[in-house]
Amino acid sequence: MATTFIDKARITVRSGSGGNGCVSFHREKYVAAGGPDGGDGGCGGSVILQVDDNLSTLMDFRYKRKYAAENGVDGSGGRKSGKDGKSLTIRVPRGTLVRDGETGEIIQDMSGDEPFVLCRGGKGGWGNAHFATPTRQAPRFAKSGLPGESHEVVLELKLLADVGLIGFPNVGKSTLLSVVSRAQPKIANYHFTTLFPNLGVVYVEEGTSFVMADIPGIIEGASEGAGLGHDFLRHIDRCRLLVHVVDVSGSEGRDPVADFDAINQELAHYSPQLAGRPQIVAANKTDILEDESLLEALREHVEALGYPLFTISAAAHRGTRELMLAVAGRLRELPPVAVYAPEYVPRPPKVDMSEPLQITVEDNVYLVEGPWLQRLIANTNFGDYESRNWFDRMLRESGLFDRLEAMGIRDGDLVSLYNLEFEYQH
Ligand code: GDP
Ligand code: MG
Repeated sequence: MATTFIDKARITVRSGSGGNGCVSFHREKYVAAGGPDGGDGGCGGSVILQVDDNLSTLMDFRYKRKYAAENGVDGSGGRKSGKDGKSLTIRVPRGTLVRDGETGEIIQDMSGDEPFVLCRGGKGGWGNAHFATPTRQAPRFAKSGLPGESHEVVLELKLLADVGLIGFPNVGKSTLLSVVSRAQPKIANYHFTTLFPNLGVVYVEEGTSFVMADIPGIIEGASEGAGLGHDFLRHIDRCRLLVHVVDVSGSEGRDPVADFDAINQELAHYSPQLAGRPQIVAANKTDILEDESLLEALREHVEALGYPLFTISAAAHRGTRELMLAVAGRLRELPPVAVYAPEYVPRPPKVDMSEPLQITVEDNVYLVEGPWLQRLIANTNFGDYESRNWFDRMLRESGLFDRLEAMGIRDGDLVSLYNLEFEYQH
C-alpha cells in the first residue's frame, strides 16, 4: 500500500451571511396602533482556524475541500432577533501556513494557540424596531443581512522543530531520533523507510529540551522533484539548526565526503537560505567503522568548511549524549524558530456598479440597497483609513450622491446602507 503524506491542500471556506431584519408591528387585541417590533437578523457564523496537536498531517483536507459556517436567521416580530449562525472551527496541525489560493501570499502562520478568523460572518440586518424614533414612529423598513465571505486558500504544513535531521536514506537518522527522544520512528535497513516526518522532543537536562524532526531521506535530484525528499524539504525550512548525519562506516560502499556534499547541494538547490543554516555533522555507525581514513577525510573536509563534527554510533548509543549537549548549546545562541509574518493584504473587491442601486425614502430616511453595495460593504474594512477612503470614492463614482440630491435629500437626513448609517451633509 502506498502511503502518501499529505502536507498541502487547497480548500474553499465560506462564512455565513447575516439574517435579514424584520418589519413588523405590535398587534394586540384592543390596542389600536402597535409600535414597530421587527427584530434584527442574526449574524452569520465565521470560519475559524485552530491548532490541534493531535493532528500531524493535512490528510483530512484531501477528502473534504469545502467548509461553510451557518447563516444567521432572519429576525421576526415581537422584537425577536434571529439566531446567530454557528461558527465553524477547522482544526489544523501546528505549523500550518495558510496562503491565499490565488497569489500564494501568507495569510497566517498557524504556529500558536490563538484561534484565527479566516472568514468573518456577515452582520445581521436591523429590524424596524431599531429605527423607531419619537418623530418616526412607524418605520416600514428593515435591513438585509450582509453576505458572508468566501476564500480559496492553500494550507501548507511546515513543521515546527528546532533541529532538522538531514542525510541520505539509511544513514541512521531515525535511529538517532529514537535513542535521544521518545519518538518511535520506523527503522529498517532499506532506503525510504521514513515516509512521514517524525517529531521528537529531546530532553537534555532540566530546563533544556528541544524538538527534533526526522524527515525522509534527501536523495540526489530531490530538489528537482526526482525523488521522495523533495516534498519534505519544506519541513526543515523553519529549523534553527541542522544535524547532518553521515554514514562513515563504509559498509554500504558510500563515500562520506561525496554524500555530505551531495546533500548540501540538494539543500542549496531547494533554498540557499536553508543551505546556509548552521549544521552540526554527526559521523554515524562508528561501531562498524571499517576504514578509519573515511572518517578522517570527512572530518578534515567539514572542519575546513567550519562545521563541527561529532563521532557517534546511534545504534550503540555512543556519543549521542555529547552530540545532544552540543546541539542544545548551539541552540541557545540561535534565534527562535521562524514564524512567518502575514503578507496577504485583502484586495478591494471587484465591483460591477452597472446595476443601479435601489433607493427608498421613508420618513427622511434614504434606504439604499443593491447587490454590489452589499458586497462592497461586506468586503470593506472600515477600521482602515485607506479602505474607508476607497469605499467613499466608489460610492461617489457610482453616482449615488447625485441621485440622492436629485431626490431632494437635505442635510441631516439619514442615509442607510445596510449596517452603515450616516447623516447627509453637503
Ligand atoms: P535513516 O534512513 O537515516 O532514518 O536510517 P535508519 O535509522 O532507519 O537506519 C538504517 C539502518 O542503519 C538500520 O538498520 C539501523 O539499525 C542501522 N543503523 C543506524 N545507526 C547505526 C549505527 O550507529 N551503527 C550500526 N551498525 N547500524 C546503525
Ligand atoms: Mg528514517
